Amino acid sequence: MNFDFYLFDLDGTLLHLGNIGAYADNILVKTLDKLKAHYPPDRNERFKLWLSEEGYIYVLEEWGVEEPQNFWKFYDEIDFEKRKILIEKKEIFLYNDVKTILEKVYYNKYNKKLAIVSNTAYYIVDYVLNKFDISKYFHEIFSLGYYNNDQELAKPSPKGILTILDKFEYDPKESKALLVGDSKFDIIAAKNANIYACLIRRDIHTRNRHYKKWDVQPDFVIEGFDELLYL
Ligand SMILES: [Mg+2]
Repeated sequence: MNFDFYLFDLDGTLLHLGNIGAYADNILVKTLDKLKAHYPPDRNERFKLWLSEEGYIYVLEEWGVEEPQNFWKFYDEIDFEKRKILIEKKEIFLYNDVKTILEKVYYNKYNKKLAIVSNTAYYIVDYVLNKFDISKYFHEIFSLGYYNNDQELAKPSPKGILTILDKFEYDPKESKALLVGDSKFDIIAAKNANIYACLIRRDIHTRNRHYKKWDVQPDFVIEGFDELLYL
């Protein structure tokens, strides 16, 4: 445990959502239907929304969404309803190695600090952390949805990470920080924030199979949370 600050992504890193791409696309489609948009029938084409960063408004306009600035509010509401149901059905759950390892890091004698940096809406993050009784392990949480247009703060932007590091009074000369995440966006965000990046690949046969071809490479790749203790 060589790091002072441990930052964690939530969805797909601590929380099992099944196939995350399919999960997000399903909510996207429901939101677009609700807004009576004319979106591409092909999921790969819809994927362009997730890559568009600040340009998302133009993509949504192209699909005929009338008030794209309100889009994420609707998206989050649908996500929240679906999550609550799937959590009750135990189809969404905390990965079974998460609690033990968080506890070990949290109660370490060297005063480590832990945080969440999530692209998910704050009220959904709060609900998940409370539901699974893990909010006590996190000193800080960065999430979205406080403003209509805070998508530009989402990873791959490093802004969330930098906000947390600022609160921790991080000084790279004195301490080391690590972000653990399950997606390319997490790795890019961490490297743009100039901290260590750890990619977690629990399902090595399907997710991020081609990560070695990414322009930005993680510093560490792990397959389970217990490996964090040895980094
Ligand atoms: Mg994730």
